[in-house]
Amino acid sequence: MTEPSPPNGPGPDGLWSVDAHLADVLAVVRPLEPIELPLLDAQGCVLTEDVTVPGALPPFDNSSMDGYAVRAADVHGASAAYPAVLTVLGDVAAGSGSLPTVRPGTAARVMTGAPLPPGAEAVVPVEWTDGGAGGGPAVDMTGPAGPEVRVHRPAAPGQFVRARGSDAALGAVALTAGAVLGPPQLGLLAALGRATVPVRPRPRVAVLSTGSELVAPGVPLGPGQIHDSNGFLLAAAARQAGAVAHRVAAVADDPGTLRATLEDQLAGADLVVTSGGVSVGAYDVVKAALTDLDPEVGSVAFRRLAMQPGKPQGFGLLGRARAPLFALPGNPVSAYVSFELFVRPALRALAGRPATELHRPRTVARLVGDAPLRSPEGRRQFLRGRYTPPADGAALGTVRPVGAADSHLVAALARADALIEIPEAVTEASPGGEFAVVLLG
Ligand code: AMP
Ligand code: MG
Repeated sequence: MTEPSPPNGPGPDGLWSVDAHLADVLAVVRPLEPIELPLLDAQGCVLTEDVTVPGALPPFDNSSMDGYAVRAADVHGASAAYPAVLTVLGDVAAGSGSLPTVRPGTAARVMTGAPLPPGAEAVVPVEWTDGGAGGGPAVDMTGPAGPEVRVHRPAAPGQFVRARGSDAALGAVALTAGAVLGPPQLGLLAALGRATVPVRPRPRVAVLSTGSELVAPGVPLGPGQIHDSNGFLLAAAARQAGAVAHRVAAVADDPGTLRATLEDQLAGADLVVTSGGVSVGAYDVVKAALTDLDPEVGSVAFRRLAMQPGKPQGFGLLGRARAPLFALPGNPVSAYVSFELFVRPALRALAGRPATELHRPRTVARLVGDAPLRSPEGRRQFLRGRYTPPADGAALGTVRPVGAADSHLVAALARADALIEIPEAVTEASPGGEFAVVLLG
């Protein structure tokens, strides 16, 4: 198996930098194998092959208006005072397969999207005719076609005709490998007649909370119990990152149960996220269950990172398919910050996104607040904040801290939309200072 091989390991203090850990993670995460998916199942996925146009689009010359298909010579010089009077051959509706031939002196009434009948060169919109009613200008074509129509304006060849191939020419590249399939791309594929496309599938993620204190929301709390919030937080974050994620019922602090649950989950997951049980407590079950694994089963490294929150982290590859496993710390804010920094990029790498599209957008903002914020030396700190984009004329937006630094504060987390990054060397972040901000979207 591929051991996570650090491009650079821990520092002299034994702590890994955020960047070194992330690089280590991304070095072993490979895009998932492409599969052929029905169009709507491929939404948001990365296309893995160029798609060429199998047949011109539109496939035939057709009318872009409701009106009359005519020969240009027949309406040459027509005006309201001297209309061209043409014999109407009948209607051509969208989807019509049998077409009348428009000979000199005749016209066919055509609907938007109807094939241009042979002999016709242009379409005169109904508003430029009497609509076959023998009177003034027509407003619509809801009635039956009259025997003849008076045309009040001339028409150049090609007028109101969508030419075959004018949208996409036969053999042209419609979409290139690497395109992310959003609604317009899926619409194009459908227009080209493609029912399925080769894409990287959405990663399947199992989210597993650990802790004997955890009960599911909806269940009343007994003494010492809390509700499992990480399972929902992390499964939702994985879905937001484009994964198909499910939450597994919280596992008690028992290594045997955890190993059995992981084995079950690995059967249907491309990536596993656990939370809790990775620090140095007496019941740190994830660490206990996944340290010194049989190499057949996989290997997980437990590390301390020079960051706050999120210092203890586990990462490795597990199971026959060597699925990435992230063992995140248990405090909800720590788990979420760790997810955003490490798991989200890994999920996007699995989905085939290029290196430039793995991360949340970042910006620089001016810190606002009443007092300086303390930050531990040698740790990259991620505070929760609310970001306000630059006001008119200002170069920078502002960011205001939400709640304190403590990593159990889920209520404050729910009010935040950004992470404020305080660099390792900064121990006091003063209002007015400029700081990098991760926009959580
Ligand atoms: P641990 O890392 O397991 O020691 O957990 C650290 C803290 O996070 C403890 O206060 C746990 O009760 C809490 N915690 C762990 N897992 C969860 C979870 N799934 N939901 C909410 N809180 C959790
Ligand atoms: Mg725990």
